[in-house]
Amino acid sequence: MVIAIGLMVLADQVFLKGPPAYHEQIKARYEQAHPPQPVIQAEPAVPEIKPPVVAKIPPTPIPLPPPSAPPPPMKARIAIIIDDMGISPAYSRRVMEFLPPEITLAFLPYAPQTPDLARMATAKGHELMIHVPMAAMKEDQDLGDMALRRGMTPPEITAELERMMTVFSGYQGINNHMGSYLTQDKDAMSAVMSVLESKNLFFVDSKTSPQSVAEEIARQAGVRYAARDIFIDHEPTAEFVATSLHKAEKMALKRRQAVIIGHPKDVTIEGLKKWIPTLKDKGIEIVPVSHLMPQTP
Ligand SMILES: [Zn+2]
Repeated sequence: MVIAIGLMVLADQVFLKGPPAYHEQIKARYEQAHPPQPVIQAEPAVPEIKPPVVAKIPPTPIPLPPPSAPPPPMKARIAIIIDDMGISPAYSRRVMEFLPPEITLAFLPYAPQTPDLARMATAKGHELMIHVPMAAMKEDQDLGDMALRRGMTPPEITAELERMMTVFSGYQGINNHMGSYLTQDKDAMSAVMSVLESKNLFFVDSKTSPQSVAEEIARQAGVRYAARDIFIDHEPTAEFVATSLHKAEKMALKRRQAVIIGHPKDVTIEGLKKWIPTLKDKGIEIVPVSHLMPQTP
């Protein structure tokens, strides 16, 4: 058995590995049949194209935003008043839907839906005013059924103004609707200002007459006062509104403040919607009109 295994191992050695001379013979015979091919350097089919010389462009550094940019300092304040509120409930609602609460809203006391709309305005955070109808130079103007009319005595003016003050609540002051006649009348204005003084309300002169005496009488009565600088939409076009708002911006930056008046119209709402978001970067803040009045005149 041991002998058989020994023979098998030996045969294995000779058969599988074989002596070195045997392999050399096989290799020589193979190389004779397959002589090695000389390596031919192939000609390049196309001439070598050099890459074009391109000027090296240094990488552009990406500017990093400042870690936390401080808000620009406020340089000016603008009060926006939308008056004639209440006559068109649909447009009055649109004003409240699309414009921010910093806008002051002035409601006509005789409009049937004014009480409801004024409540809505208070809930939205607007400052409220009564937009008081006052006699105009043109006598045929429709002032509605609540108004301070030409020919009223001071007690009649007081009584009529106090009647308007019962229509809705939450207002901080008044401004005149029309009134180019009445704001020139010292007695009438004195009656108006004494009512305002007794209730700690302010007066905004819509300045429908350059001869208005309201400022002088308000000062005498100790009533807080401001005047309209710019009407923004008496020409109801987008261009006119945009130009007026640009003027308001310039005026405010020059004088630190401005009071503008607009009305519930589409062009006005659209114009203000676009303009208001641009103001912060210009250093302009929108404030309720009472913020532009000294507490004690
Ligand atoms: Zn008006």
